[in-house]
Amino acid sequence: MPGLYIHIPFCRQACYYCDFHFSTNLSYREEMVQAMIREINLQSSYLQDNTLQSVYFGGGTPSILDIPQLEDLLHEISSNFHISEGAEITLEANPDDLSIEKLNSLKALDINRLSIGIQSFDDRALQFLHRVHNAREAMESLDKARHAGFDNISIDLMFSLPGFSTDMLKKDLRRAMHLRPEHISIYNLTIEEKTVFGNWQKKGKLTATNDDDSARQFELIISTLEDHGYEQYEISNFCRNGRYAVHNSSYWKNVSYLGIGPGAHSYDGKNRQHNVANNHLYMKALARGSVPFTMEKFDKKSWANDYILTSLRTKWGCDLKVLHEFSGYKLIKSHEKEIEKMQAERLLYSEDNKLFLTRKGRFLADSITAALFWV
Ligand code: SF4
Repeated sequence: MPGLYIHIPFCRQACYYCDFHFSTNLSYREEMVQAMIREINLQSSYLQDNTLQSVYFGGGTPSILDIPQLEDLLHEISSNFHISEGAEITLEANPDDLSIEKLNSLKALDINRLSIGIQSFDDRALQFLHRVHNAREAMESLDKARHAGFDNISIDLMFSLPGFSTDMLKKDLRRAMHLRPEHISIYNLTIEEKTVFGNWQKKGKLTATNDDDSARQFELIISTLEDHGYEQYEISNFCRNGRYAVHNSSYWKNVSYLGIGPGAHSYDGKNRQHNVANNHLYMKALARGSVPFTMEKFDKKSWANDYILTSLRTKWGCDLKVLHEFSGYKLIKSHEKEIEKMQAERLLYSEDNKLFLTRKGRFLADSITAALFWV
């Protein structure tokens, strides 16, 4: 069953590492919601199967919307699609938006999963990242969410922060383990060119953490989370008791999805399309009754490489039959020697016509996948 993604392109302030699509001008939120409602209606026949297994409000900062705005969007979704029984309905939220009243209202809207952008429980790190919330709000947001009845909570954390010690990471992990979220996404800070950090790096004011230190921190993360009952089911994603992220997993399993909002992407099982990443152009086009997107034509080679890149990162592995059926690429045949070598080095293993990364291989995921690409 497919999924629906809704991109809310607003944030209170720009985090220094972020290159997502968002605006800090919040004055036209309602106009944007109305444009998205029009898009949901116009795109209602995009997916072959109209029954949704997941709805995901991402961003930007979806928790910036008022409850009536979220209610209007959900109403439009359920008028145009069938939300399956037990579907995962996730809202990304920042800790500073999560008052008890708001959480109770979100629960009443049948939002059943929160993904809270915590990043760190350390005030100095949060200031460095230019996050809008502080450590106290981060801690309290989970308690309040539990109190409101949320039993499926994910948190985002970051590591490899330049100038911050492994001790700080240990403290972050201790706090996370104390709060016991069902799911944790943890990302290595990457410095993107068009961000404040990118600018600082260019001017020599910031140096990224070196690869060895990052690898050591990642090893610490994996062992700490595994010791506490979390399963690493994707390189950056961990959960306990099988609470995999249904929506995000669908991206890794070649499931189709519809993306609503400026900058959102859609995939119908064959082609991808990309909505314009400009709020005003998006709203203008929708006011005229058209969806402003560009179509990426199906290209067997890029599909195959994308599939290898995403599937190998997961516990479900790279299904060689799916790879061949969709793209015609015979991975084993074209990379027989490389694969044998990686198996001998215990970086890869195969089972049931699928390829998997070993624990050792997960540390070298990027170079392994690149070596298997169809060139
Ligand atoms: S809140 Fe999220 S989307 Fe917004 S600037 Fe920060 S990281 Fe980017």
